[in-house]
Amino acid sequence: MELQKSGAAFVRAKKFLPGGVSSPVRSYAGMDCNPPFISHAKGSKIFDIDGNEYVDYVGSWGPMILGHAHPKVVAALQKAVERGTSYGAPTESETQLAELVQKIYPSMEVMRPVNSGTEATMSALRVARGFTGRDKIIKFVGCYHGHADSLLVNAGSGAATFGTPSSPGVTKGTAADTIALPYNDIDAVKKIFDECGEQIAAVIVEPVAGNMGLVPPVENFLPGLRDVTKKFGALLIFDEVMCGFRVALGGAQEKYKIVPDLTCLGKIVGGGLPCAIYGGKEKIMRNVSPDGKVYQAGTLSGNPLAMTAGIETLKILIDTPDFTKKLSEKTSALVEGIKSAAKNSGVEIQTQQAGSMFGIFFSPVEVTNYEESVAANQELFKKYFLSMLEQKIYLAPSQFETLFMSAAHTDGDIQKTIDAAKKSFAAL
Ligand SMILES: *Cc1c(COP(=O)(O)O)cnc(C)c1O
Repeated sequence: MELQKSGAAFVRAKKFLPGGVSSPVRSYAGMDCNPPFISHAKGSKIFDIDGNEYVDYVGSWGPMILGHAHPKVVAALQKAVERGTSYGAPTESETQLAELVQKIYPSMEVMRPVNSGTEATMSALRVARGFTGRDKIIKFVGCYHGHADSLLVNAGSGAATFGTPSSPGVTKGTAADTIALPYNDIDAVKKIFDECGEQIAAVIVEPVAGNMGLVPPVENFLPGLRDVTKKFGALLIFDEVMCGFRVALGGAQEKYKIVPDLTCLGKIVGGGLPCAIYGGKEKIMRNVSPDGKVYQAGTLSGNPLAMTAGIETLKILIDTPDFTKKLSEKTSALVEGIKSAAKNSGVEIQTQQAGSMFGIFFSPVEVTNYEESVAANQELFKKYFLSMLEQKIYLAPSQFETLFMSAAHTDGDIQKTIDAAKKSFAAL
């Protein structure tokens, strides 16, 4: 595919930015292709500087659940920007957003807005450690919780191991307090709690995992986590930065009827502006400064533009009858179409769907954890990805990423995508 202007822009960008990007996956590393540089986006479409129009299933990696540049969000932002872009002082908009969030996530009795999902999970862990007076945390291999040091640990798939850093720059000391266990393996969690449960401050989990491809929880996993954390006085943190508002309006906690102690929201909660929120039980969250001693602050936290985009987005989600149900049905239609296209071409894939999140693995077996996700065929994925891009379908350039449906996607978009998938599978 000819991406001349994007190619030139990429060369210039690489001079100044590592990999030419502000976040690694955007560089299309390993895809034998330069990333299209984006000029604008509207509804379900994203446009590059070479004049191509794509059907977008990345949605800025999750936030754009209403589609790009939704007229109501844009109008509210235009008004807000005239009033100034940041004050570093309280506004009513923070409370308004918090009220909306609590309506959908009743477990978030008290909450704090921050600027990114990374900040939300990092802060939630600090609160958990401050509240329990314990140091260790459990995370799951293949779950991504942002790039805070203690969460950039992946003890390798397989058996339970005490953490080793998975990025240079993360100290052994930090890693030693992180225990990484296989996703969906409740027995591994119970075993560790039996060994050192009184040292564990929290279990943090993507209740529907979306960062090793899409991997939903098996039936006993989340209830098991709730039980064992309660038994040992550790906190259960649901990182719903991605699955929040998608697997159900009230996230995984609504869908699976589990009440976590703390919740992290991001992506959608800021309506496409930098914003995330962490919160939970009042007696825990009152430990946050200035009510309590756990320090956490931010120059741009509660930014009025981010609050505005979040408020407008959540209002639409709440006010549109059956929003989540309709979006899920649309997603199912696409996933079913892709599935039968693959079948007709004799290509072995696994499709996964949770609400408006979906993904495919080029794997003959169902994927339930990181080890199985890594085993999926990367070569076939790459060919499929490039063929779809050529046909103007914009997918995430990695099998470890989840795809997102938006309210702006039309039946025509979906049919176009299925037709493209047919061609791609036939050519594999
Ligand atoms: C995206 C993501 C994060 C990190 O959010 P950023 O805003 O990129 O820092 C954390 N947790 C999950 C589950 C995510 O998907």
